[in-house]
Order: sequence, then C-alpha cells, then structure tokens
Amino acid sequence: MVRTLPPFRIMSQSLHTTIKDLQKDMYYGNEVLNRVSFLREDTEFISKSLFHPSTRFIFFNKQNPLVHKNFANMLTIMTNGDKQVCVDQIEPGQSNNLGYTGNLQFLPLGLMNHVPHWKEILHTWNEDNKNMDKSLRSKGKPTFLFMGLLDESVGLDINSLKVDCELNGDEKYLDHQGRYQGIAYYAVDVSSNKELCRNLVHFVNDTINEKFQTDKTPEENGVFFTHSRKHFLTFESKEASLFSQGAMFFHWLTTNKFCPGCGHPTIPIHAGGKLYCTNEETITANDDTAAAAAAAATASTSDRPNAKSACPVKSAPVSNVSFPRTDMAVISIITNTDRSKILLSLGKRHFTSKMYSCTAGFMEPSETVEIATKREIWEETGVTCDEVNVVMTQPWPFPSNLMIGCIGVVEFNGTNELIHLGHDNELLDARWFDTSFVRKLVYPEQVTEADKDFNPEGIMIPMGQSIAYNLIKMCVDEEDENNKEEYKL
Ligand SMILES: [Zn+2]
Repeated sequence: MVRTLPPFRIMSQSLHTTIKDLQKDMYYGNEVLNRVSFLREDTEFISKSLFHPSTRFIFFNKQNPLVHKNFANMLTIMTNGDKQVCVDQIEPGQSNNLGYTGNLQFLPLGLMNHVPHWKEILHTWNEDNKNMDKSLRSKGKPTFLFMGLLDESVGLDINSLKVDCELNGDEKYLDHQGRYQGIAYYAVDVSSNKELCRNLVHFVNDTINEKFQTDKTPEENGVFFTHSRKHFLTFESKEASLFSQGAMFFHWLTTNKFCPGCGHPTIPIHAGGKLYCTNEETITANDDTAAAAAAAATASTSDRPNAKSACPVKSAPVSNVSFPRTDMAVISIITNTDRSKILLSLGKRHFTSKMYSCTAGFMEPSETVEIATKREIWEETGVTCDEVNVVMTQPWPFPSNLMIGCIGVVEFNGTNELIHLGHDNELLDARWFDTSFVRKLVYPEQVTEADKDFNPEGIMIPMGQSIAYNLIKMCVDEEDENNKEEYKL
C-alpha cells in the first residue's frame, strides 16, 4: 500500500533539489545581474557607470531587442569601449570562470568612438536624469534603464578581469567606492530616435562585414530588432532573462505617460526605475479648489509650510505614479493526494494543437494566492481543491506578468473531483489523466516500442520554457518518488 503524501511535507532530497533548481533556473527569471536597485537614484554612480568603457548596452525598439540572425538565440550586447572582454575570449573549459558578459563575438569596437552622436546622447541623458528634466521623454531622446551590475554575487570572476586590465591596460570593470565592482548593464529604448536605430544596425552590420570580409546589407546579414516570439522563446536562458527585464520595464514606462492622479505628463527618473509626475502646482491644506490650486502655483511648497502638491499622487505618503508593473496570475497543477491523477485542460485557443495545460488566471485585489488558485480551479474546471501550495514563480514578459505556480490537491470523495466546464466557459475540455500517461508526454524518450501508440489523440503539453511544463514535470516526478520503495509501508 502506498502512503498518502501531503505536498512537500515529506519529500526526498532529490526532489527537493530538483524544485530548488527549477526555482533558480526559471526561464525569464534567471538572476543574471545584481540589480543594486538602490544605486538607481545615485546620480554619481549612474554618471560613472554610463560612460565607463566596460558598460554593456542592450538596445530595444519598444520591447523588441536587437539581434543578429547567426546568433538569434542571443542578444546583441554592445560596450562603450573597444576590446572589452567577450564570450569567445574565454578559454575553453573555463566558461564559468568569468561569469556572463554577453554576446560580443562580432563587436571588437565600442560604441563611444564608433556610433555617431553616441557620446552626446549619453551626456544629454545623464544631465536630464540628474536634473529630473521634464524633457526626458522628448522626441529623439532614448529611454535608459539601469539594469544592474554583473558582479561576484552572480558569478563574475573579478580577479580574471583585474589580470586582463593589467595585461591590456583598458578598464574591464567598474569600481564604485571600492564597494561595488563589476560590469554595469543598461537597456536603452531607441524607438523615439530613428537615426540612432539606423546607426546601431549599421554599426553591427559593418562589424560583421569587416570580420567576414563581406559587403552585405543589414537585411542580408540579418541585423534587426526582433518582435518574433520565435526568438523570445529560444533565447539562451541568461539572454532571455535580460530581454525579459528590459521588455517589461519598457512596457511599463511607455504605457504610463500620464499621471493617474492629475493627468500631467510623467517622466522616467532614477535611471528608469521610477515614474515621476511633472505637475508642480501646490495647494494649501484644507483648500483644494481648482482656483486655490492655480493661485498657489506661484509659490513653492517650502515657502508655505501648509502647502502640498496639487497632484494627489505626489502628496500621498508613499509617492509613486505607478510602481513598475507586474500583473500577478496564478497557475496550478491539479492532482490528487497520491499524485496518481493529473487534471489538465484544453483552452479554446489551443484546440488545433490539442495542447493540454495547467489552469491559470489573474489574481484579484484583496485575494490571497491560495484562494485565487482555488477560485480559478473551481471556476474553470468545477473541481473543488482541498489544499494549495505555492511551488515556483516565473516572470512572463508578454507583456508583464508574474506567474505564481501552485499545486492544488483534490481529495477525491465522489464530488470534489467532478469536472464541470459551464461556470465561466473558458475551456473546451478538461480531464483527469493517469499520471503514467502524462509521464510519457514529459519523458517521450522513455516510451517503449510496445507503447508507441499510447497517445492516439495526439495530446501535447506546453513547451519546456514554461512554468506549466515545469509544474507538470514536478508532479510526475513526485508520483515517481511516491512509488519508490522507501515510501511504501
Ligand atoms: Zn500627478
């Protein structure tokens, strides 16, 4: 007899390790950089890192990153200075020594001296950022986002860079106050400056032509800002996370151009980490008529102790036009207590591919993750879930979601497990599958010749990069562990 296991109370070491690894290596959620988010508002640090030769720049046209077709699974990351450390300079067998520095195979030249107007653009943005200048969003001005530092906390071998500096003379990493050492990464949205877009594409293209002694156009070489999901879902995992961070921030910055409290334009301050309302009107306390607000606009708040900003957002105790947006959605694998059954469902838009997946939906205000998960499961499948546990999470940059992955356990009693699709009518089908069947979808290489016709309907499960796949796999592995001798009475 197999003992019934509540989720994660009794767990083998190997399964525990697997879940820990999944949590760490989640696609789009890899910790590539130390975000050092407190340094975003340190204008001295921002100025220093912005002009440093080692600094990396990842360019976006809106949320679409620059790629090159021969390395379409990587971003085209550029540096300010020449001859910075590249991936292909790492000695074979030592690929983990240096840490991740980006795809620079084709870019021995830096932006500073080779892309027209790049230096002026840096100077202008630096001054605007320092002064919180209202023109930060003016036409022609790119939007900068300080993404973080590649440092020792995320695997950079700073000593190998020190050696490189001594050998070659160039600075290969930034040192801020002896406390923060590493390579700074910026994302730049160049969609408002078509000339810069073109210059960047030509810069990459010229470098490729020089390396291969060719004379091809950017179209022939395949240098472009990609908007293809094919690329977004096939980036290598670290590249995917950098893409995700940039795309999600730029989506937030570009869709919040006006203050929700007063309608004035907003600007991105703190190197892209915060939105600021440009309304400078003030109002005296207890006097909030429009006329008073207009009259008060001539005096500054410091002149009048009772004055506060006319914008309700700016005068709130915690003032932020909108925090960087991330919309939370719950996604759950539904199973029974001994994991021998898994409920998967077919959404209406997947009917042609027969892709059965986990149940998912957006969280509502004032709802816990656990209750939202139970609600979504019941609304979509009619099944009543007894217990919910959060297992893993995944950022999903289409456009700005955080998927909260849960396991929902249904105690079979003749009623709880009954499927009913008529509540919100979102699904075409939902079924309890035997876990042994789902295992063959997760591990197709283990399907024997005798079993090759196990799936006559052609049922599919989601791709490996998704949290849905990882939740399904985790449940299958858990059932496997459950069946092992050590758990049997
Ligand atoms: Zn406002």
